[in-house]
Amino acid sequence: MPNILFAGTAENWETYKALIPSALKAQNIDAQLRRDFAPEVVDYIVYSPLGPVQDFGPFTRLKAVLSLWAGVEKIVGNTTLLAPLCRMVDSGLKNGMAEWVAGHCLRYHLGMDAHIVNPSQEWRGGIAPPLAEDRTIGILGIGELGQACAETLCCLGFNVAGWSNHQKDIQNVACFSGSNGLEALLRQSDIVVLLLPQTEETTHILNAQTLSLLPKGACVLNPGRGPLIDDEDLLAALNANHIAHATLDVFAKEPLPQDHPYWAHPNVTVTPHIASETRPKSAAQVVADNIARSEHGRPLLFQVDQTLGY
Ligand code: NAP
Repeated sequence: MPNILFAGTAENWETYKALIPSALKAQNIDAQLRRDFAPEVVDYIVYSPLGPVQDFGPFTRLKAVLSLWAGVEKIVGNTTLLAPLCRMVDSGLKNGMAEWVAGHCLRYHLGMDAHIVNPSQEWRGGIAPPLAEDRTIGILGIGELGQACAETLCCLGFNVAGWSNHQKDIQNVACFSGSNGLEALLRQSDIVVLLLPQTEETTHILNAQTLSLLPKGACVLNPGRGPLIDDEDLLAALNANHIAHATLDVFAKEPLPQDHPYWAHPNVTVTPHIASETRPKSAAQVVADNIARSEHGRPLLFQVDQTLGY
């Protein structure tokens, strides 16, 4: 019978202490889920970066670490972790991100602000927004979340382009990779969405040079990670009116400091890292599914490649 150490926060425990056992039962896995095993008897760790375990050295018989978070930048590179690490991909996280991205893309596409904020009560008629088929949305990082967003945006009629590490072939999505691919995607994107993981290669991927490739008046959405953007370069591009607007959900420092220029900038919308989150019911099923896979000798899902860093 495998022993599963729950190493999330106390608040997480209240949420998951019944959900994970019932998901395991549905998989016919007889296991113990607790918060207080001796390290040497632990088979699996359910992990959160905010939880109590960051030194995996004492866990000598660990079969896998199952993160409740999608982003793994806080654990990748932890030299005490020798067991496989799986990140969280669940339907709730994907659907939530697709809804957040679609909502903010539609705000830009339809020019909603011009009518929602109209204190002078001026009748601004005559100009209907273009159709979605006349707009291109470029997604940097066309992985699990990027593809969920692409599917939703395609259903709305947008032209969608995606950029990834490895060249992909996704129905209805113009796929790009490599530095030439990045340039080609940016040149055609009216809205660019950042859904890359935070790694050495992706840090400041949006900088003065790459921002200059976007068409004048393009908008930026960042629900990925703060360090993907060089903040000074984005502010300069906004102040030069090259970038029309940015909606930022994630930041190099969170919470975003009160004196950060993003707060007061008229062309920046700040959302407090709420674009999407792991949904406990579907996440518990993903955890149980991976434990069942491991127990039956099948490959784990969503395993992190420690050399790539995501
Ligand atoms: P994923 O499935 O691993 O997808 C990552 C994508 O980025 C893949 O397409 C990957 O390419 C691409 N990529 C990585 N490094 C690259 C590079 N150097 N050059 C080009 N492409 C690169 O991850 P995910 O589940 O979609 O999650 C993406 C990120 O969203 C997470 O890492 C996390 O930071 C963020 N997130 C934010 C929130 C929020 O609430 N704001 C919630 C959840 C997640 P390949 O496909 O070729 O490997």
